[in-house]
Amino acid sequence: TAVTAPLLQVRSVAKAFGGNRVLEDVSFQVEPGEIVGLLGPNGSGKSTLLNLVTGFERIDQGEVLFEGGRIDRLPAHRIVDRALGRTFQLPSMPTKMSVIEVAMAAATARHGFFDTLLGTRAAREAEERARVEADALLKEFLLTPVRDLPSSALSGGQKKLLGIVCALMGKPRLLMLDEPTAGVHPNLRNDIVQALQRLNRQGMTIVIVEHDMHFIREVCTRCIVLDRGHIVASCRPDELSSNERVLQAYLGG
Ligand code: ADP
Ligand code: MG
Repeated sequence: TAVTAPLLQVRSVAKAFGGNRVLEDVSFQVEPGEIVGLLGPNGSGKSTLLNLVTGFERIDQGEVLFEGGRIDRLPAHRIVDRALGRTFQLPSMPTKMSVIEVAMAAATARHGFFDTLLGTRAAREAEERARVEADALLKEFLLTPVRDLPSSALSGGQKKLLGIVCALMGKPRLLMLDEPTAGVHPNLRNDIVQALQRLNRQGMTIVIVEHDMHFIREVCTRCIVLDRGHIVASCRPDELSSNERVLQAYLGG
């Protein structure tokens, strides 16, 4: 059997904001096909870790490798081009653009199409392809009824779904989600679970910051637990409740 390389490798990463040492000596890897839950109390550094991996913040120390290549000095848009997509804990949407336009813009941003092809037939064809892709994803994430509304009119939960759609427009091989179900209506939560499982069956690897233990047990193949900037556990979801260091992290030990 062929040995597959880890998809993502985070090696001894550290990050401080001023005197606040948010992450220290953080190392882990993600194998192709995993759905990894990234857990930890508020302020433990989960969003910062996603920001570092996806190029929204610079690491102070360490290395990040995606598919074997260093990405920790690349700008965020170059990391998206390498098929590493992400969503934000608090999605912000351009006020005037409609939902379908926001989704389509996510595809054009990825290729920089509009700059090079503006007004050409290739540009119109690329736009049409993006529209078809965007419509399919909006349908999958139940946003077809709000397709033509201004994106700013969406509920918090719908903005989360649109954030996932935008990330998927980049055709990522690794998808990183920051609290995708927080504030999402319970009916939609199940649809998100099913969509993520379907994407995973199609080969997508997923890292997901999530607090809902039910969701984690249902979706994740492995969990990584952060506490005050350190990884304190890497285990199966069913092992979390008997892990001393996990309990300590949440009980403030
Ligand atoms: P989590 O997502 O686990 O709740 P965060 O990564 O958002 O935690 O935050 C971890 C710590 O880093 C917090 O103390 C937070 O205030 C700090 N922090 C995060 N981003 C910044 C930033 N851009 N500037 C200064 N401090 C930050
Ligand atoms: Mg966070």
